[in-house]
Amino acid sequence: MKFSRMAREVQPSATIKISTKVKNMRAEGIDIIGFGMGEPDFTTPDNIREAGVKAIWDGLTKYTPTSGTMELKEAICDKLLKDNGLKYSPGQIMTSCGAKQSVCNVILALCDKGDEVIIPSPYWVSYSEQTIMAGAKPVLLHATDDADFRITLKQFENAINDNTKLMILNSPCNPTGSVYSEAELREIVGCAVKNNIYVISDEIYENILYDGAKHCSPAGFGDEFLDKVITVNGFSKSFAMTGWRLGYAAGNKEIISEAIKLQDHFTSGTSSITQAAGIEALKGKQDFIKDMVAEFDKRRRFLIDKLNSLDGVSCVMPKGAFYAFPNISGLFGRSIAGETVNDSDGLVNLLIEKARVAFVPGKSFGSDDHLRISYATSMDNIKEGMARLEALLAG
Ligand code: PMP
Ligand code: GLU
Repeated sequence: MKFSRMAREVQPSATIKISTKVKNMRAEGIDIIGFGMGEPDFTTPDNIREAGVKAIWDGLTKYTPTSGTMELKEAICDKLLKDNGLKYSPGQIMTSCGAKQSVCNVILALCDKGDEVIIPSPYWVSYSEQTIMAGAKPVLLHATDDADFRITLKQFENAINDNTKLMILNSPCNPTGSVYSEAELREIVGCAVKNNIYVISDEIYENILYDGAKHCSPAGFGDEFLDKVITVNGFSKSFAMTGWRLGYAAGNKEIISEAIKLQDHFTSGTSSITQAAGIEALKGKQDFIKDMVAEFDKRRRFLIDKLNSLDGVSCVMPKGAFYAFPNISGLFGRSIAGETVNDSDGLVNLLIEKARVAFVPGKSFGSDDHLRISYATSMDNIKEGMARLEALLAG
């Protein structure tokens, strides 16, 4: 059968593929520990769940405007002003079925065949595929462990040409946990704005920070920035609301209107019930976030220490999000459990088969020398998973 250009060119989501594999193996009764899905292992806080239940009983069961209810968009504007210093009006907000759909709508609204999209790499798996969906070309700028996985202004300047339309920034970053400083963002995003390049700033991990790292929203650097930067955020990570499907984009009204027009035809927007819960998430008490981050921090310290103690493995200390991105190239060429491993796919498969632990190959995030480990899972799982990894490498 001949499929469309889009279906032929887009690769499956490696994060979803690995987590589905783990779920299927568990259903078969196999004892496997999954570090695949970037999904908080916490339940959505009670006040938010209650708001969702109340919305059902209040009869909020109809279509909403595609971009979201006015009350939710106003709550998002208040949040963006209070937390990020960004002044947007509700007409500049689009809510969607997750930040994933917000990013995709904006890419599809801006990019065409012939356009280039600069993506600092390692990068989240969907940026490249959504760019390909638009028919545009992902241009990956590689940042190494030594650079704490952050690209430089020079790298960015060298990658710009007449076809460059958009850049996608993600700080704190999935999969590396790196966080750009305000000074770096001013330089890099300033250069984009000067060169008429739009920037998607995906800030979905803004609240998950460690060791005093600070989040900064580049749209706030001045009027030209507010015009060119599209700020994307969501509820999945900060409020453990992955299953509710709620994210948003804020930016230049013309871009947001075009993105909403596309969403009219995709999904008509996200669920009315989810939106009511989202208002409570933004307006209700926020102490859940602090407690969740404190727990992630304990796991992070244990996990990174453990990884760095393994011969052939080294891991940069992440400053944000809930992922470790260890370099495993020191294991390539060695015989592990009777097999020689030469890339991240090979190691992931071996670990699933022989140690019953599942990570995501770094290759899908732009580096075959790494694995991605989500520590949004219990400390017991982390301890057991690391023990299995250690035993396999030692054996
Ligand atoms: N951006 C990044 C960097 C992510 O890791 C995720 C995780 N799924 C998303 C966006 C999308 O999240 P969601 O669609 O659940 O809001
Ligand atoms: N963002 C999460 C991850 O990277 C969820 C899965 C996905 O949407 O890719 O694992």
